[in-house]
Amino acid sequence: MVKYFSTRGGGEAVSASEAILKGLAEDGGLFFPDHIPALTKSLKELSEMTYQEVAYEVMQPFLSDYTEEELKNCIQNAYDSKFDTEVIAPLVYADGAYYLELFHGTTIAFKDMALSILPHLMTTAVNKNHIKNDIVILTATSGDTGKAALAGFAGVKGTKIIVFYPKNGVSPIQEKQMVTQKGDNTFVVGIHGNFDDAQNGVKKIFGDREFAKLMADNGYQFSSANSINIGRLVPQVVYYVYAYAKLLKEGKIAEGEAINVVVPTGNFGNILAAYFAKNMGLPIAKLICASNENKVLFDFFRTGIYDRNRDFVLTSSPSMDILISSNLERLIYLIAGNDGEKNKELMMQLSSSGKYEISTNMQENLQDFYGEYASEAETAKTIASLYENCGYVIDPHTAVASCVYEKYKAQTGDDTKTVIASTASPYKFTRSVMAALGKQDESSDDFVLADALSGLSGVKIPEAVEGIRTAPILHDTVCEKDEMAEVVKKYLGI
Ligand SMILES: *Cc1c(COP(=O)(O)O)cnc(C)c1O
Repeated sequence: MVKYFSTRGGGEAVSASEAILKGLAEDGGLFFPDHIPALTKSLKELSEMTYQEVAYEVMQPFLSDYTEEELKNCIQNAYDSKFDTEVIAPLVYADGAYYLELFHGTTIAFKDMALSILPHLMTTAVNKNHIKNDIVILTATSGDTGKAALAGFAGVKGTKIIVFYPKNGVSPIQEKQMVTQKGDNTFVVGIHGNFDDAQNGVKKIFGDREFAKLMADNGYQFSSANSINIGRLVPQVVYYVYAYAKLLKEGKIAEGEAINVVVPTGNFGNILAAYFAKNMGLPIAKLICASNENKVLFDFFRTGIYDRNRDFVLTSSPSMDILISSNLERLIYLIAGNDGEKNKELMMQLSSSGKYEISTNMQENLQDFYGEYASEAETAKTIASLYENCGYVIDPHTAVASCVYEKYKAQTGDDTKTVIASTASPYKFTRSVMAALGKQDESSDDFVLADALSGLSGVKIPEAVEGIRTAPILHDTVCEKDEMAEVVKKYLGI
């Protein structure tokens, strides 16, 4: 039975379903399993399984208070025809690496992998724990989480979802996807500020006890769909295991052969999931953490100093424009030897001075990781050269990872077989992709560009883009970053 503790050492152990409902621990920490369970099936057995079957094997040990029937129901409801391919997460070989395409769900970005199951895990948790309140999902997004969470929770009984996004910090298609969201339990708000402002605002509301009381008095309670929720992290472990199993099945690797993974990183959730997979026993050698010009993590892996005091850069990979990678707290806790006090001290330093330094002991526990970054020019060049070499078009986030992988190979000579997490469809970032391919056209709108990209790549425009071409705008609220709490109260009528 896996129980969950706060990374800041406070509070009681909770079950998986309670951790999913709460989102964040009461002392402001993140929930962390008391141990990382081992894979229950051999790699060979896993290689014969479907995505849904692998999902069950990987998630079950983490979600040990869910019955077999409950978890299987959640999985069946999540990984179905919402995905445009039966394999859910295809692997595509291009130019020396395997691209794990995590963008075949409703909103064509990897957040769908977890957010298509989270609402089911959460409503199951509501029932299991005899909760009478309505759940209010409060989310800050750098672009992709918002839409994926809205799509996941829209129309789900007993829930409301409120999404805050940086008004000028997401791509036009990302914004259009969100502001056209249907469902009378959905609410989308742009803020004058960047993603960190949105995330801090949300964290502040979560930590506000008076607010929580007001909510409870009115039959509501908050939960989080952000990647700090353990219900986001656990489903993300699945596709690393699945990718390995597929490589094994196809004879690309031998059983037990180690692979590297490269992950374009922002909030550190996706790469942490890969690290969990490794700790479950999946043969992963290096975890290569790819950053864009907001290279806090690159600096951290190099120096052991995490320092967010720097200019925030708006890049062509906006979902990685993040200076505070929330999920890194889980890694810090782990490398500190599951020491909540030590972690708390560092997180306090982060919130007071924007920086902290880990000990050399802790740094030694980071050997599995390798950090690098790609500049804007390098990212664009990578999109162009991959297209020229093999006709495969990738989005800017994936391109950051691809570029970092090339740098890694050049620096280390390591030729271990490598999986690159491909986190978004190029159609989600059409303008940047077309510009990188030398087809810049300032006068065309994103939909005209999407048509042109389809002509170039031979890949059909996904429904996620087609569907919003002419959709009406349903959300137009914009607020200042210090007005977020008021906006929430007004929406809920409390
Ligand atoms: C969210 C996101 C990332 C970053 O993932 P983290 O788990 O936050 O590190 C990378 N690429 C895309 C397209 C994303 O949406």
